[in-house]
Amino acid sequence: VKTVISPITPVEGEYRTRRFQHVAGEEKTVTIHKEHGLRYRVDLEKAYFTPRLGTERLRVANLVVPGDVVFDMFAGVGPFALLFAKRGAKVVAVDKNPIAVRLMRENASLNRIDKIEILEGDAGQMAERYENFADHVIMNLPHTAHDFLKQAIWIAKDGGVVHYYAIASEEDLYGRDTAFVEEAALATGAKISFLYRGIVRSYAPHQYNIVIDFEVRKP
Ligand code: SAM
Repeated sequence: VKTVISPITPVEGEYRTRRFQHVAGEEKTVTIHKEHGLRYRVDLEKAYFTPRLGTERLRVANLVVPGDVVFDMFAGVGPFALLFAKRGAKVVAVDKNPIAVRLMRENASLNRIDKIEILEGDAGQMAERYENFADHVIMNLPHTAHDFLKQAIWIAKDGGVVHYYAIASEEDLYGRDTAFVEEAALATGAKISFLYRGIVRSYAPHQYNIVIDFEVRKP
């Protein structure tokens, strides 16, 4: 261990970042994290990253087959997107935070991955250009992903699967977000079927990070 830091703010803001205080060793927030055989350069203060989603990333990676097209709407430094690309998917990965995008590009080179298009900007605004594009759409922005459900359905191909993440309270784990998905489907005219609902991790007392996978059928 070269550095010890401790968080002093919650994860906050549009870029989902937090501040740390230095505790011991070198004063830095940049490190290399290894996950599922890949190396990621992360800057804990400037771009979102958590190792606690590693098991979930592997679950989704195991549903992606070589040749699948994946659209990662909120890709961060690339831990979902680069894992899928490494396994032979064709990936488009978007993030609004320029520093996350720079790190994601560095991480693609670090792992010699080229089957990925990395774009900086608002995934909601980019959706228009990607109608019926993806076999899998990743929506890992759990506090506000519901605002982008219509765009995710638009990006999914007929038969494509959306992987939707949310923060839910234990009294109503899946009810509110199931309703959000159904409302978005109704508004777009797509038919959906729910494939999987699960708890990804505990988030706060009585709150969980959940995932809902649903298949999209286009008229
Ligand atoms: N998927 C990554 C991971 O597992 O580490 C990052 C997830 S992080 C919770 C959400 C990311 O979405 C942040 O990097 C943030 O900058 C980005 N973001 C927020 N709003 C966005 C938007 N409208 N379009 C694209 N990216 C956005």
